[in-house]
Amino acid sequence: MTELRSVDRYAELRDQRLAARLAAEDSAEAAGLDPFERLTCRTHRHWLHQCIGSAAHVVVVTGHRWCRACERPATVVVDELAGAVRLFCPSCGRFPDSPANRQVVRACVRSLAAARGG
Ligand SMILES: [Zn+2]
Ligand SMILES: [Zn+2]
Repeated sequence: MTELRSVDRYAELRDQRLAARLAAEDSAEAAGLDPFERLTCRTHRHWLHQCIGSAAHVVVVTGHRWCRACERPATVVVDELAGAVRLFCPSCGRFPDSPANRQVVRACVRSLAAARGG
């Protein structure tokens, strides 16, 4: 029953690879996958790199997309052509180096690759 619901939830998405990945990651997350390791976003129903700019992806407590020095959200720039992802703080201009922010960049790079069929 749970599985049927999760399939229905993404049935209307045009990108079938995205829909399948969303459903698979929902199940994996329920089984213990770190939600920050996901390549798809349950909230926005997108590949992570497509919605990482949303305020919902700033998590102050864990430090994801957050500059602790400036106490400000960090910006993520995604270059789809180059497959490159850059995260920086608009206040100090630096990469706010932390395990959480490295995880954001890593997940976005993998999301880009997965969306292309990698
Ligand atoms: Zn999202
Ligand atoms: Zn900063």
